[in-house]
Amino acid sequence: MLKFDYQFLDQLPADPVEENFTRQVSEACYSLVSPRPLINPSLISVSKPLAKSLGLCEQDWQSDWFLNIASGSALQSDMRPYALCYGGHQFGHWAGQLGDGRAINLGDLPDINQQFQTLQLKGAGPTPYSRSADGLAVLRSSVREYLCSEAMHHLGVATTRALSLCLTGEQVMRDMFYDGNAALEKGAVVCRVAPSFIRFGNFQIHASRQETTLLKQLADYVIKRNFPDLGEPSAEVYEQWFETICDSTMAMIIDWMRVGFVHGVMNTDNMSILGQTIDYGPYGWLEGYDPNWTPNTTDAQGKRYSFGNQPQIAQWNLYQLANALLPIIGRVERLEAALENFADAYQQQAQKMYANKLGLQHHSGEKDEQLIDQLFLMLQLSETDMTIFFRCLAKMETEKNYTDQQLFELVEPAYYAPQQLTDDHMNSIYKWLSDYQRRISGQSWSDAKRSAKMNQTNPKYVLRNYLAQQAIDSADKGDYSEIERLMSLLERPYDEQPEYEDYAKKRPEWARTKAGCSMLSCSS
Ligand code: AMP
Ligand code: MG
Repeated sequence: MLKFDYQFLDQLPADPVEENFTRQVSEACYSLVSPRPLINPSLISVSKPLAKSLGLCEQDWQSDWFLNIASGSALQSDMRPYALCYGGHQFGHWAGQLGDGRAINLGDLPDINQQFQTLQLKGAGPTPYSRSADGLAVLRSSVREYLCSEAMHHLGVATTRALSLCLTGEQVMRDMFYDGNAALEKGAVVCRVAPSFIRFGNFQIHASRQETTLLKQLADYVIKRNFPDLGEPSAEVYEQWFETICDSTMAMIIDWMRVGFVHGVMNTDNMSILGQTIDYGPYGWLEGYDPNWTPNTTDAQGKRYSFGNQPQIAQWNLYQLANALLPIIGRVERLEAALENFADAYQQQAQKMYANKLGLQHHSGEKDEQLIDQLFLMLQLSETDMTIFFRCLAKMETEKNYTDQQLFELVEPAYYAPQQLTDDHMNSIYKWLSDYQRRISGQSWSDAKRSAKMNQTNPKYVLRNYLAQQAIDSADKGDYSEIERLMSLLERPYDEQPEYEDYAKKRPEWARTKAGCSMLSCSS
Protein backbone atom coordinates (compact mmCIF):
# COMPACT_ATOMS: atom_id res chain seq x y z
CA MET A 1 0.00 0.00 0.00
CA LEU A 2 1.49 3.34 -1.04
CA LYS A 3 0.96 6.39 1.14
CA PHE A 4 0.24 9.40 -1.06
CA ASP A 5 0.45 12.99 0.13
CA TYR A 6 -2.26 15.45 -0.96
CA GLN A 7 -1.12 18.80 0.35
CA PHE A 8 -1.70 20.28 -3.10
CA LEU A 9 -5.39 19.39 -2.82
CA ASP A 10 -5.62 20.40 0.83
CA GLN A 11 -4.05 23.82 0.34
CA LEU A 12 -5.51 24.93 -2.98
CA PRO A 13 -9.10 25.37 -4.12
CA ALA A 14 -10.84 22.62 -6.10
CA ASP A 15 -13.36 22.86 -8.87
CA PRO A 16 -16.65 22.31 -6.95
CA VAL A 17 -18.14 20.26 -9.78
CA GLU A 18 -17.21 16.59 -9.52
CA GLU A 19 -18.86 15.23 -12.67
CA ASN A 20 -16.48 14.52 -15.53
CA PHE A 21 -17.53 16.62 -18.54
CA THR A 22 -15.68 19.19 -20.61
CA ARG A 23 -15.99 22.70 -19.21
CA GLN A 24 -14.29 25.98 -18.28
CA VAL A 25 -13.12 25.77 -14.67
CA SER A 26 -12.61 29.10 -12.92
CA GLU A 27 -11.56 30.01 -9.36
CA ALA A 28 -9.89 26.59 -8.97
CA CYS A 29 -6.46 25.02 -9.51
CA TYR A 30 -7.71 21.51 -10.33
CA SER A 31 -10.66 19.17 -10.75
CA LEU A 32 -11.02 15.80 -9.06
CA VAL A 33 -11.29 13.09 -11.68
CA SER A 34 -10.73 9.33 -11.75
CA PRO A 35 -8.87 7.35 -14.38
CA ARG A 36 -10.97 4.89 -16.38
CA PRO A 37 -11.20 1.30 -15.15
CA LEU A 38 -9.79 -1.13 -17.71
CA ILE A 39 -10.78 -4.72 -18.48
CA ASN A 40 -7.42 -6.04 -19.58
CA PRO A 41 -4.43 -3.75 -18.91
CA SER A 42 -0.89 -5.11 -19.09
CA LEU A 43 2.55 -3.86 -18.11
CA ILE A 44 5.08 -3.45 -20.91
CA SER A 45 8.06 -1.94 -19.12
CA VAL A 46 9.26 -0.37 -15.87
CA SER A 47 12.17 2.04 -15.41
CA LYS A 48 14.01 0.09 -12.76
CA PRO A 49 16.34 2.90 -11.62
CA LEU A 50 13.33 5.17 -11.12
CA ALA A 51 11.20 2.50 -9.43
CA LYS A 52 14.06 1.83 -7.01
CA SER A 53 14.45 5.53 -6.27
CA LEU A 54 10.80 5.50 -5.23
CA GLY A 55 11.54 2.65 -2.82
CA LEU A 56 9.90 -0.03 -4.98
CA CYS A 57 11.40 -3.48 -5.53
CA GLU A 58 10.90 -6.03 -8.30
CA GLN A 59 8.18 -7.83 -6.35
CA ASP A 60 6.28 -4.52 -6.18
CA TRP A 61 6.37 -3.69 -9.86
CA GLN A 62 5.41 -7.23 -10.83
CA SER A 63 2.34 -7.15 -8.61
CA ASP A 64 -1.27 -6.61 -9.60
CA TRP A 65 -1.57 -3.55 -7.42
CA PHE A 66 1.27 -1.89 -9.32
CA LEU A 67 -0.35 -2.66 -12.68
CA ASN A 68 -3.67 -1.31 -11.41
CA ILE A 69 -2.12 1.95 -10.27
CA ALA A 70 0.31 2.38 -13.19
CA SER A 71 -2.44 1.84 -15.77
CA GLY A 72 -5.04 3.74 -13.74
CA SER A 73 -7.32 0.73 -13.87
CA ALA A 74 -7.98 0.55 -10.13
CA LEU A 75 -6.59 2.90 -7.50
CA GLN A 76 -6.29 2.48 -3.75
CA SER A 77 -9.42 3.68 -1.96
CA ASP A 78 -7.52 6.47 -0.21
CA MET A 79 -6.28 8.04 -3.45
CA ARG A 80 -7.65 11.39 -4.67
CA PRO A 81 -6.70 11.73 -8.35
CA TYR A 82 -7.00 15.12 -10.04
CA ALA A 83 -6.37 17.07 -13.24
CA LEU A 84 -4.71 20.51 -13.25
CA CYS A 85 -6.21 23.65 -14.72
CA TYR A 86 -3.77 25.61 -16.88
CA GLY A 87 -3.72 27.77 -19.97
CA GLY A 88 -1.01 28.69 -22.41
CA HIS A 89 0.32 30.38 -25.50
CA GLN A 90 0.35 27.94 -28.39
CA PHE A 91 2.59 28.88 -31.31
CA GLY A 92 2.72 32.44 -30.01
CA HIS A 93 -1.03 32.93 -29.49
CA TRP A 94 -2.97 32.91 -26.23
CA ALA A 95 -5.13 29.78 -26.29
CA GLY A 96 -7.11 30.23 -23.06
CA GLN A 97 -7.83 27.22 -20.87
CA LEU A 98 -6.03 24.01 -21.80
CA GLY A 99 -5.39 21.93 -18.67
CA ASP A 100 -4.60 18.26 -18.09
CA GLY A 101 -6.74 16.91 -20.92
CA ARG A 102 -5.22 13.47 -20.80
CA ALA A 103 -3.11 13.53 -17.67
CA ILE A 104 -4.36 12.53 -14.23
CA ASN A 105 -2.25 13.15 -11.14
CA LEU A 106 -2.28 10.33 -8.62
CA GLY A 107 -0.70 12.23 -5.70
CA ASP A 108 2.76 12.71 -4.22
CA LEU A 109 5.07 9.98 -2.89
CA PRO A 110 8.30 10.57 -0.97
CA ASP A 111 11.29 9.07 -2.79
CA ILE A 112 14.21 7.43 -0.99
CA ASN A 113 15.72 10.89 -0.42
CA GLN A 114 12.48 12.09 1.19
CA GLN A 115 11.72 14.37 -1.76
CA PHE A 116 8.08 14.39 -2.81
CA GLN A 117 7.46 13.16 -6.34
CA THR A 118 4.12 13.52 -8.10
CA LEU A 119 2.96 10.47 -10.05
CA GLN A 120 0.90 11.31 -13.11
CA LEU A 121 -0.80 9.04 -15.66
CA LYS A 122 -0.84 10.17 -19.27
CA GLY A 123 -3.58 8.61 -21.38
CA ALA A 124 -5.80 7.31 -18.55
CA GLY A 125 -9.05 8.83 -19.81
CA PRO A 126 -10.85 12.12 -20.25
CA THR A 127 -10.95 14.97 -17.75
CA PRO A 128 -12.88 18.27 -17.59
CA TYR A 129 -9.96 19.70 -19.65
CA SER A 130 -10.16 17.24 -22.54
CA ARG A 131 -12.03 19.74 -24.77
CA SER A 132 -13.05 17.80 -27.89
CA ALA A 133 -10.40 15.08 -27.51
CA ASP A 134 -10.57 11.64 -25.90
CA GLY A 135 -8.07 11.83 -23.04
CA LEU A 136 -6.20 8.83 -24.40
CA ALA A 137 -2.72 8.14 -25.74
CA VAL A 138 -1.52 5.64 -28.31
CA LEU A 139 1.32 3.15 -27.93
CA ARG A 140 3.49 4.96 -30.52
CA SER A 141 3.62 8.25 -28.64
CA SER A 142 3.76 6.58 -25.23
CA VAL A 143 6.85 4.55 -26.21
CA ARG A 144 8.44 7.77 -27.40
CA GLU A 145 7.69 9.59 -24.15
CA TYR A 146 8.75 6.65 -21.99
CA LEU A 147 12.09 6.09 -23.72
CA CYS A 148 13.02 9.73 -24.15
CA SER A 149 12.24 10.83 -20.57
CA GLU A 150 14.58 8.22 -19.20
CA ALA A 151 17.21 8.77 -21.91
CA MET A 152 17.27 12.51 -21.13
CA HIS A 153 17.63 11.83 -17.42
CA HIS A 154 20.66 9.62 -17.99
CA LEU A 155 22.14 12.25 -20.31
CA GLY A 156 22.02 14.65 -17.37
CA VAL A 157 19.26 16.84 -18.82
CA ALA A 158 16.59 18.10 -16.41
CA THR A 159 13.41 16.22 -17.22
CA THR A 160 10.23 14.67 -15.94
CA ARG A 161 10.72 10.91 -15.62
CA ALA A 162 8.73 7.88 -16.78
CA LEU A 163 8.13 5.06 -14.31
CA SER A 164 6.16 2.64 -16.45
CA LEU A 165 4.53 1.92 -19.77
CA CYS A 166 1.26 -0.05 -19.85
CA LEU A 167 -1.09 -1.18 -22.56
CA THR A 168 -4.69 -0.30 -21.81
CA GLY A 169 -5.96 -3.32 -23.78
CA GLU A 170 -8.18 -0.91 -25.72
CA GLN A 171 -7.91 0.66 -29.14
CA VAL A 172 -7.80 4.35 -29.95
CA MET A 173 -8.69 6.08 -33.21
CA ARG A 174 -6.03 8.45 -34.59
CA ASP A 175 -5.47 10.35 -37.80
CA MET A 176 -1.70 10.35 -37.61
CA PHE A 177 -1.07 12.89 -40.37
CA TYR A 178 -4.35 14.79 -40.30
CA ASP A 179 -4.98 13.58 -43.84
CA GLY A 180 -8.30 11.83 -43.37
CA ASN A 181 -6.76 8.39 -42.90
CA ALA A 182 -7.79 7.64 -39.34
CA ALA A 183 -6.93 4.18 -38.01
CA LEU A 184 -7.21 2.22 -34.78
CA GLU A 185 -4.06 2.03 -32.71
CA LYS A 186 -3.22 0.36 -29.40
CA GLY A 187 -3.92 2.54 -26.35
CA ALA A 188 -1.24 3.01 -23.70
CA VAL A 189 -0.58 4.83 -20.43
CA VAL A 190 2.73 6.22 -19.21
CA CYS A 191 3.18 6.91 -15.51
CA ARG A 192 5.23 10.10 -15.33
CA VAL A 193 7.11 11.28 -12.26
CA ALA A 194 8.33 14.78 -11.31
CA PRO A 195 8.62 16.90 -8.16
CA SER A 196 5.92 19.08 -9.75
CA PHE A 197 3.95 19.14 -12.99
CA ILE A 198 3.10 22.83 -12.65
CA ARG A 199 3.72 24.74 -15.89
CA PHE A 200 4.06 28.41 -16.81
CA GLY A 201 0.47 28.06 -18.02
CA ASN A 202 -0.83 27.25 -14.52
CA PHE A 203 0.00 30.84 -13.52
CA GLN A 204 -1.07 32.31 -16.83
CA ILE A 205 -4.61 30.97 -16.58
CA HIS A 206 -5.27 32.66 -13.21
CA ALA A 207 -3.63 35.91 -14.36
CA SER A 208 -5.74 35.94 -17.52
CA ARG A 209 -8.88 35.61 -15.39
CA GLN A 210 -7.75 38.23 -12.88
CA GLU A 211 -7.85 35.57 -10.15
CA THR A 212 -5.08 37.32 -8.23
CA THR A 213 -5.72 35.68 -4.85
CA LEU A 214 -5.57 32.27 -6.46
CA LEU A 215 -2.47 33.22 -8.41
CA LYS A 216 -0.77 34.15 -5.14
CA GLN A 217 -1.95 30.99 -3.40
CA LEU A 218 -0.53 28.83 -6.19
CA ALA A 219 2.78 30.74 -6.27
CA ASP A 220 3.11 30.47 -2.50
CA TYR A 221 2.38 26.76 -2.57
CA VAL A 222 4.96 26.10 -5.31
CA ILE A 223 7.62 28.20 -3.57
CA LYS A 224 7.12 26.48 -0.21
CA ARG A 225 6.96 23.02 -1.74
CA ASN A 226 9.57 23.15 -4.49
CA PHE A 227 11.74 26.19 -3.70
CA PRO A 228 11.90 26.08 0.13
CA ASP A 229 15.35 27.73 0.20
CA LEU A 230 13.82 30.99 -1.04
CA GLY A 231 12.03 31.53 2.29
CA GLU A 232 8.65 33.08 3.15
CA PRO A 233 6.95 34.40 0.00
CA SER A 234 7.09 38.19 -0.50
CA ALA A 235 7.46 40.47 -3.53
CA GLU A 236 11.21 40.08 -3.28
CA VAL A 237 11.01 36.31 -2.97
CA TYR A 238 8.76 36.16 -6.05
CA GLU A 239 11.41 38.13 -7.96
CA GLN A 240 14.16 35.77 -6.80
CA TRP A 241 11.97 32.85 -7.70
CA PHE A 242 11.49 34.22 -11.21
CA GLU A 243 15.26 34.61 -11.57
CA THR A 244 15.70 31.01 -10.43
CA ILE A 245 13.18 29.88 -13.06
CA CYS A 246 15.10 31.84 -15.72
CA ASP A 247 18.31 30.10 -14.62
CA SER A 248 16.91 26.58 -14.58
CA THR A 249 15.10 27.08 -17.90
CA MET A 250 18.33 28.32 -19.43
CA ALA A 251 20.30 25.38 -18.03
CA MET A 252 17.76 23.01 -19.58
CA ILE A 253 17.99 24.70 -22.99
CA ILE A 254 21.80 24.65 -22.88
CA ASP A 255 21.59 20.92 -22.31
CA TRP A 256 19.14 20.48 -25.19
CA MET A 257 21.58 22.30 -27.47
CA ARG A 258 24.46 20.22 -26.14
CA VAL A 259 22.86 16.86 -26.86
CA GLY A 260 20.92 17.87 -30.00
CA PHE A 261 17.37 17.65 -28.65
CA VAL A 262 14.52 19.52 -30.31
CA HIS A 263 11.39 19.71 -28.15
CA GLY A 264 9.09 20.55 -31.04
CA VAL A 265 6.20 22.21 -29.12
CA MET A 266 7.61 24.81 -26.75
CA ASN A 267 4.22 26.31 -25.94
CA THR A 268 3.99 27.96 -22.52
CA ASP A 269 1.80 25.10 -21.32
CA ASN A 270 4.72 22.79 -22.05
CA MET A 271 7.22 24.71 -19.90
CA SER A 272 7.78 23.30 -16.43
CA ILE A 273 8.13 25.72 -13.55
CA LEU A 274 11.10 23.57 -12.43
CA GLY A 275 12.95 23.97 -15.73
CA GLN A 276 12.48 20.31 -16.57
CA THR A 277 11.84 18.99 -20.06
CA ILE A 278 8.13 18.12 -20.11
CA ASP A 279 5.59 16.74 -22.60
CA TYR A 280 7.45 14.60 -25.08
CA GLY A 281 5.34 14.94 -28.22
CA PRO A 282 6.73 15.60 -31.71
CA TYR A 283 10.27 15.96 -30.35
CA GLY A 284 13.29 14.84 -32.35
CA TRP A 285 17.04 14.40 -32.23
CA LEU A 286 19.31 16.28 -34.57
CA GLU A 287 21.04 13.99 -36.96
CA GLY A 288 22.60 16.28 -39.55
CA TYR A 289 23.46 19.53 -37.75
CA ASP A 290 20.87 22.08 -38.88
CA PRO A 291 19.67 24.92 -36.65
CA ASN A 292 16.52 25.26 -38.78
CA TRP A 293 15.40 21.70 -38.30
CA THR A 294 12.13 20.91 -36.57
CA PRO A 295 10.67 17.42 -36.28
CA ASN A 296 7.13 18.79 -35.91
CA THR A 297 5.21 18.72 -39.22
CA THR A 298 2.64 21.11 -37.68
CA ASP A 299 5.49 23.65 -37.42
CA ALA A 300 7.10 22.91 -40.80
CA GLN A 301 6.10 26.31 -42.22
CA GLY A 302 6.95 28.76 -39.46
CA LYS A 303 9.69 26.64 -37.85
CA ARG A 304 9.03 28.54 -34.63
CA TYR A 305 10.30 25.64 -32.57
CA SER A 306 13.33 24.67 -34.64
CA PHE A 307 16.55 23.58 -32.92
CA GLY A 308 18.28 26.96 -33.17
CA ASN A 309 15.24 28.95 -32.02
CA GLN A 310 14.93 27.17 -28.69
CA PRO A 311 16.89 29.69 -26.58
CA GLN A 312 14.93 32.62 -27.98
CA ILE A 313 11.60 30.85 -27.50
CA ALA A 314 12.51 30.04 -23.90
CA GLN A 315 13.04 33.75 -23.33
CA TRP A 316 9.72 34.59 -25.02
CA ASN A 317 7.98 32.07 -22.78
CA LEU A 318 9.64 33.55 -19.70
CA TYR A 319 8.24 36.95 -20.74
CA GLN A 320 4.78 35.43 -20.65
CA LEU A 321 5.45 33.98 -17.21
CA ALA A 322 6.70 37.36 -15.97
CA ASN A 323 3.50 38.97 -17.26
CA ALA A 324 1.46 36.37 -15.41
CA LEU A 325 3.33 36.93 -12.13
CA LEU A 326 3.23 40.72 -12.34
CA PRO A 327 -0.10 41.12 -10.47
CA ILE A 328 1.39 39.54 -7.33
CA ILE A 329 4.75 41.31 -7.61
CA GLY A 330 3.51 44.79 -8.48
CA ARG A 331 6.76 46.10 -9.99
CA VAL A 332 8.58 45.29 -13.19
CA GLU A 333 12.22 46.33 -12.73
CA ARG A 334 13.78 43.06 -11.59
CA LEU A 335 11.63 40.97 -13.89
CA GLU A 336 12.66 43.10 -16.84
CA ALA A 337 16.31 42.97 -15.82
CA ALA A 338 16.21 39.16 -15.61
CA LEU A 339 14.60 38.94 -19.04
CA GLU A 340 16.96 41.45 -20.62
CA ASN A 341 19.91 39.61 -19.14
CA PHE A 342 18.71 36.29 -20.57
CA ALA A 343 20.24 36.63 -24.04
CA ASP A 344 23.68 37.70 -22.78
CA ALA A 345 23.71 35.12 -20.03
CA TYR A 346 22.71 32.49 -22.56
CA GLN A 347 25.56 33.47 -24.87
CA GLN A 348 28.03 33.15 -22.02
CA GLN A 349 26.72 29.79 -20.85
CA ALA A 350 26.52 28.48 -24.39
CA GLN A 351 30.15 29.44 -25.05
CA LYS A 352 31.15 27.51 -21.94
CA MET A 353 29.13 24.52 -23.06
CA TYR A 354 30.67 24.56 -26.57
CA ALA A 355 34.14 24.91 -25.05
CA ASN A 356 33.37 21.76 -23.03
CA LYS A 357 32.17 19.98 -26.14
CA LEU A 358 35.47 20.86 -27.79
CA GLY A 359 37.53 19.84 -24.78
CA LEU A 360 38.96 23.34 -24.23
CA GLN A 361 40.43 23.77 -20.80
CA HIS A 362 39.28 27.41 -20.66
CA HIS A 363 37.22 29.49 -23.02
CA SER A 364 39.68 32.19 -23.94
CA GLY A 365 37.45 34.86 -25.45
CA GLU A 366 37.04 36.07 -28.97
CA LYS A 367 39.37 33.60 -30.66
CA ASP A 368 37.51 30.63 -29.25
CA GLU A 369 34.23 32.27 -30.16
CA GLN A 370 35.44 32.40 -33.75
CA LEU A 371 36.56 28.78 -33.64
CA ILE A 372 33.08 27.81 -32.42
CA ASP A 373 31.29 29.98 -35.03
CA GLN A 374 33.44 28.49 -37.78
CA LEU A 375 32.71 25.00 -36.53
CA PHE A 376 28.96 25.44 -36.83
CA LEU A 377 29.31 26.88 -40.32
CA MET A 378 31.46 23.90 -41.25
CA LEU A 379 28.93 21.42 -39.88
CA GLN A 380 26.36 22.88 -42.29
CA LEU A 381 28.45 22.56 -45.46
CA SER A 382 27.07 19.10 -45.98
CA GLU A 383 24.88 16.88 -43.81
CA THR A 384 27.04 16.12 -40.77
CA ASP A 385 25.90 14.08 -37.79
CA MET A 386 26.48 16.26 -34.74
CA THR A 387 26.64 13.42 -32.21
CA ILE A 388 29.14 11.38 -34.20
CA PHE A 389 31.22 14.41 -35.12
CA PHE A 390 32.09 15.32 -31.52
CA ARG A 391 32.92 11.73 -30.56
CA CYS A 392 35.27 11.57 -33.58
CA LEU A 393 36.90 14.87 -32.69
CA ALA A 394 37.79 13.55 -29.23
CA LYS A 395 40.16 11.12 -30.94
CA MET A 396 42.38 13.83 -32.39
CA GLU A 397 45.99 13.64 -31.22
CA THR A 398 47.66 16.96 -30.49
CA GLU A 399 51.18 15.95 -31.46
CA LYS A 400 50.44 13.98 -34.60
CA ASN A 401 51.39 15.33 -38.04
CA TYR A 402 48.20 14.72 -39.99
CA THR A 403 47.90 15.07 -43.73
CA ASP A 404 44.73 16.84 -44.88
CA GLN A 405 43.30 13.49 -45.89
CA GLN A 406 44.05 12.00 -42.47
CA LEU A 407 42.44 14.94 -40.74
CA PHE A 408 39.26 14.40 -42.71
CA GLU A 409 39.31 10.66 -42.07
CA LEU A 410 39.07 11.42 -38.37
CA VAL A 411 35.60 12.92 -38.76
CA GLU A 412 34.45 11.18 -41.94
CA PRO A 413 32.11 8.77 -40.10
CA ALA A 414 29.93 11.83 -39.29
CA TYR A 415 29.33 12.75 -42.96
CA TYR A 416 26.20 11.47 -44.68
CA ALA A 417 27.37 12.29 -48.21
CA PRO A 418 31.11 13.00 -48.16
CA GLN A 419 31.22 12.60 -51.95
CA GLN A 420 29.14 15.78 -52.24
CA LEU A 421 31.80 17.92 -50.57
CA THR A 422 33.43 20.32 -53.06
CA ASP A 423 37.12 21.23 -52.96
CA ASP A 424 36.20 24.48 -51.24
CA HIS A 425 34.27 22.57 -48.60
CA MET A 426 37.16 20.18 -48.09
CA ASN A 427 39.56 23.08 -47.68
CA SER A 428 37.41 24.71 -45.00
CA ILE A 429 37.17 21.40 -43.17
CA TYR A 430 40.96 20.86 -43.26
CA LYS A 431 41.47 24.43 -42.12
CA TRP A 432 39.08 24.13 -39.20
CA LEU A 433 40.53 20.82 -38.07
CA SER A 434 44.08 22.15 -38.15
CA ASP A 435 43.02 25.33 -36.32
CA TYR A 436 41.45 23.09 -33.72
CA GLN A 437 44.58 20.97 -33.43
CA ARG A 438 46.66 24.10 -32.94
CA ARG A 439 44.23 25.34 -30.30
CA ILE A 440 44.38 22.14 -28.24
CA SER A 441 48.15 21.81 -28.51
CA GLY A 442 48.39 25.10 -26.63
CA GLN A 443 46.78 23.71 -23.47
CA SER A 444 48.23 21.53 -20.74
CA TRP A 445 45.70 18.67 -20.77
CA SER A 446 46.92 15.36 -22.18
CA ASP A 447 45.01 13.88 -25.12
CA ALA A 448 43.65 11.20 -22.81
CA LYS A 449 42.34 13.78 -20.39
CA ARG A 450 40.82 15.97 -23.10
CA SER A 451 39.17 13.05 -24.78
CA ALA A 452 37.75 11.73 -21.49
CA LYS A 453 36.33 15.18 -20.70
CA MET A 454 34.81 15.50 -24.17
CA ASN A 455 33.26 12.07 -23.94
CA GLN A 456 31.53 13.06 -20.71
CA THR A 457 29.92 16.03 -22.48
CA ASN A 458 29.25 14.56 -25.92
CA PRO A 459 27.04 11.47 -25.74
CA LYS A 460 27.84 8.45 -27.87
CA TYR A 461 24.24 7.18 -27.79
CA VAL A 462 21.12 9.28 -28.18
CA LEU A 463 17.57 8.19 -28.93
CA ARG A 464 17.91 8.60 -32.69
CA ASN A 465 14.50 9.11 -34.27
CA TYR A 466 14.65 5.85 -36.22
CA LEU A 467 15.73 3.85 -33.14
CA ALA A 468 12.59 4.92 -31.30
CA GLN A 469 10.53 4.06 -34.39
CA GLN A 470 12.02 0.55 -34.61
CA ALA A 471 11.12 -0.02 -30.96
CA ILE A 472 7.58 1.20 -31.73
CA ASP A 473 7.17 -1.05 -34.78
CA SER A 474 8.22 -4.13 -32.76
CA ALA A 475 6.10 -3.12 -29.77
CA ASP A 476 3.09 -2.78 -32.04
CA LYS A 477 3.58 -6.45 -32.94
CA GLY A 478 3.87 -7.40 -29.25
CA ASP A 479 7.67 -7.61 -29.09
CA TYR A 480 9.02 -5.35 -26.35
CA SER A 481 12.64 -6.52 -26.42
CA GLU A 482 13.80 -3.46 -28.36
CA ILE A 483 12.31 -1.16 -25.70
CA GLU A 484 14.27 -3.04 -23.03
CA ARG A 485 17.45 -2.93 -25.10
CA LEU A 486 17.16 0.83 -25.59
CA MET A 487 16.33 1.41 -21.92
CA SER A 488 19.47 -0.44 -20.88
CA LEU A 489 21.72 1.07 -23.55
CA LEU A 490 20.55 4.62 -22.85
CA GLU A 491 21.27 4.28 -19.15
CA ARG A 492 24.97 4.83 -20.03
CA PRO A 493 24.91 7.20 -23.02
CA TYR A 494 28.47 8.47 -22.57
CA ASP A 495 30.11 5.04 -22.26
CA GLU A 496 31.48 3.00 -25.13
CA GLN A 497 29.28 -0.10 -25.33
CA PRO A 498 30.89 -2.19 -28.06
CA GLU A 499 27.96 -4.64 -28.21
CA TYR A 500 25.74 -1.71 -29.22
CA GLU A 501 28.06 -0.09 -31.78
CA ASP A 502 25.30 -0.13 -34.42
CA TYR A 503 23.13 2.12 -32.25
CA ALA A 504 25.74 4.89 -32.49
CA LYS A 505 25.85 4.91 -36.29
CA LYS A 506 24.38 7.41 -38.71
CA ARG A 507 20.68 7.20 -39.48
CA PRO A 508 20.21 4.65 -42.29
CA GLU A 509 18.97 6.03 -45.65
CA TRP A 510 15.57 4.31 -45.44
CA ALA A 511 14.80 6.38 -42.33
CA ARG A 512 15.30 9.70 -44.10
CA THR A 513 11.70 9.98 -45.24
CA LYS A 514 9.90 7.35 -43.16
CA ALA A 515 7.06 8.65 -40.97
CA GLY A 516 8.05 8.74 -37.32
CA CYS A 517 11.77 8.78 -38.21
CA SER A 518 11.96 12.18 -39.84
CA MET A 519 8.62 13.84 -39.28
CA LEU A 520 5.97 13.74 -36.61
CA SER A 521 2.65 15.37 -35.98
CA CYS A 522 1.06 16.45 -32.73
CA SER A 523 -1.59 13.76 -33.18
CA SER A 524 -0.72 11.29 -30.49
P1 AMP B 1 0.17 19.16 -26.08
O1 AMP B 1 0.36 19.95 -27.33
O2 AMP B 1 0.26 17.67 -26.26
O3 AMP B 1 1.02 19.63 -24.96
O4 AMP B 1 -1.37 19.36 -25.65
C1 AMP B 1 -2.01 20.61 -25.58
C2 AMP B 1 -3.31 20.47 -24.86
O5 AMP B 1 -4.16 19.50 -25.50
C3 AMP B 1 -3.23 20.02 -23.41
O6 AMP B 1 -4.24 20.67 -22.69
C4 AMP B 1 -3.50 18.55 -23.49
O7 AMP B 1 -3.99 18.02 -22.29
C5 AMP B 1 -4.54 18.48 -24.59
N1 AMP B 1 -4.57 17.19 -25.27
C6 AMP B 1 -3.67 16.70 -26.17
N2 AMP B 1 -4.04 15.48 -26.59
C7 AMP B 1 -5.21 15.17 -25.97
C8 AMP B 1 -6.08 14.06 -25.97
N3 AMP B 1 -5.88 12.99 -26.74
N4 AMP B 1 -7.17 14.12 -25.17
C9 AMP B 1 -7.42 15.19 -24.40
N5 AMP B 1 -6.65 16.27 -24.36
C10 AMP B 1 -5.54 16.27 -25.12
MG1 MG C 1 1.24 19.67 -23.19
